[in-house]
Amino acid sequence: MKQLSDLSSKQLSDWLSEASQQTQKGKLPNYIPLLQDSKPSVLTICIITKNNYILSQGDSQIKFPLMSIIKPFLLLYLLSEFGEELIFQKVGSQPSNYSFNSLKQLQLDQGFPRNPMINSGALTLASLLPGNDGDRKCQNLQQWLNQHSQCDLFLDELMLHSVQSLPNLRNKAIIDELTKTGQINDPDITLDTYNKICCLSGNIIELARLGLLLVNSPNISTKNATIVRNIMTTCGLYEASENLAKHIGFPSKSGVSGAILSIVPEQGAIACYSPPLDAQGNSVASLYLIEKIATALHTREK
Ligand code: GLN
Repeated sequence: MKQLSDLSSKQLSDWLSEASQQTQKGKLPNYIPLLQDSKPSVLTICIITKNNYILSQGDSQIKFPLMSIIKPFLLLYLLSEFGEELIFQKVGSQPSNYSFNSLKQLQLDQGFPRNPMINSGALTLASLLPGNDGDRKCQNLQQWLNQHSQCDLFLDELMLHSVQSLPNLRNKAIIDELTKTGQINDPDITLDTYNKICCLSGNIIELARLGLLLVNSPNISTKNATIVRNIMTTCGLYEASENLAKHIGFPSKSGVSGAILSIVPEQGAIACYSPPLDAQGNSVASLYLIEKIATALHTREK
């Protein structure tokens, strides 16, 4: 396989202009009002290698909420706190063919969350974060991530108010089901924690740095990083995961804000951000870029 550091900035800027043409195919999500105000034309990428070589294009200062991209890092933190055995008593690791916020999937599984990359699994894991309330639980995750990744992730309060301004009936129904089946004990704290961790925010370079936690990071257990990467490969891009795993072949995770993070094992990470989303909720332009890069890396040198 080629190296991430072999990619040239010219190649990257060509792909960026192609990707920006794709954004009209996507739509901004309508259930979080502030995400409707995101600029559809913003497109930024950061490639980082484990030796800290950085190639970045577009507006690298713009901040965005991680949303579902926090899910693999929630899993990573809890694995390091509580170990694999306990965590996988609480959530499974199988892909789902239903949407990320599907109640039906949870009901079909008798209330056992199918994997930690969908809302039922992440809500369950959010309830396990150390701390007595949503603030403390969110801060513990935030501090651990910032300490380990040289990031300065912050809780975007305006985004949080926006998330809380409309009742998210799907998440509410999932929480009710999880409470009924005894997976979680405190529905209000759990929802509050989940909403807060989804609003942890940073810029594209920070997102790429987070990705490095999953690439032979000296402070992270190799076993835990491998577990998280494997689940990202099969479950990270919602119901499109299976199909995209074949094209991309890299562990990836997307979020409803329009960001996607892909891990290139042994090498580094690719972070992209562009708000318009496809029907599954994956950023159209970010996916385009990741597919281009994956193809270039997998193409054998002649
Ligand atoms: N907060 C969002 C939700 O639960 C995150 C989902 C996502 O990024 N896909 O709806």
